[in-house]
Amino acid sequence: MENDKKYALVTGASRGIGKACAIELAKAGYNIIITYAGNTEAANQTIAELKALNVEAEAYKFDVSNSQEVEQNISQIIEKYGRIDVLVNNAGITRDDLFIRMTDDKWLDVINTNLNSAFYVTKPVVKLMMKQRFGSIVNTTSVVGVYGNIGQANYSSAKAGLIGFTKSLAKELGARNIRVNAVAPGFIATDMTKDLKNADEYLKLISLRRMGEASDVASAVKFLAVDASYVTGQVLEVDGGLVI
Ligand code: NAP
Repeated sequence: MENDKKYALVTGASRGIGKACAIELAKAGYNIIITYAGNTEAANQTIAELKALNVEAEAYKFDVSNSQEVEQNISQIIEKYGRIDVLVNNAGITRDDLFIRMTDDKWLDVINTNLNSAFYVTKPVVKLMMKQRFGSIVNTTSVVGVYGNIGQANYSSAKAGLIGFTKSLAKELGARNIRVNAVAPGFIATDMTKDLKNADEYLKLISLRRMGEASDVASAVKFLAVDASYVTGQVLEVDGGLVI
């Protein structure tokens, strides 16, 4: 029955944490819509892996920091599928630099891609979820959004903004049966961290003495998105005990 189908939309899911979330949600029986910026080869590979799990899967390529592109693509998705049960706002970038050297471009790129994107994507999706009287949203923030980090004033500001966004939406939308939570990963082995300098120094700070895998974050996202039926407005740190 068409109406019984569940759909999850995961932004930035061609690779890394988003891809792992898409796979975890597919294993939980969700049909998956992924978005990505430009890496079509990776997106196609993800779609093939999702379809091998016997779910519907489709990829949309657009820039989450561009409000017009988001509006066009999300309305196409909503028109085609008619329902979105789970939204994972995951797409993100880093443009690190010491604050004193940080250019306007680096600041704005990160704020637009990591924070404003969530506003653009979530607005039309929430309208649909309100009609459904059901929905679950997980925003991918970061431990540095809670604790700050040298060289990441732009990134940590965007990620802190996402935490405020999460808590405010949880309060506004709870009465509509829409839960909104955030996951705050620590150091996770993806393309984003592959050139990390002083990785050994970071490892000493992590209680579990290893970097996280994308799948470690994905299982927490699936918990918040699907299983945690009485949890909203929370930030779950998935950092191997980096900060305790
Ligand atoms: P990643 O491997 O670099 O993947 C980034 C994903 O976001 C890709 O799918 C990329 O698409 C997409 N993307 C980037 N800019 C975009 C844009 N403007 N429009 C649409 N899609 C865009 O990153 P990751 O490590 O998996 O990180 C995923 C999320 O977790 C991010 O929000 C990141 O800030 C957060 N996070 C990561 C870590 C970590 O240690 N890795 C820690 C804390 C939080 P393309 O493949 O097409 O480029």
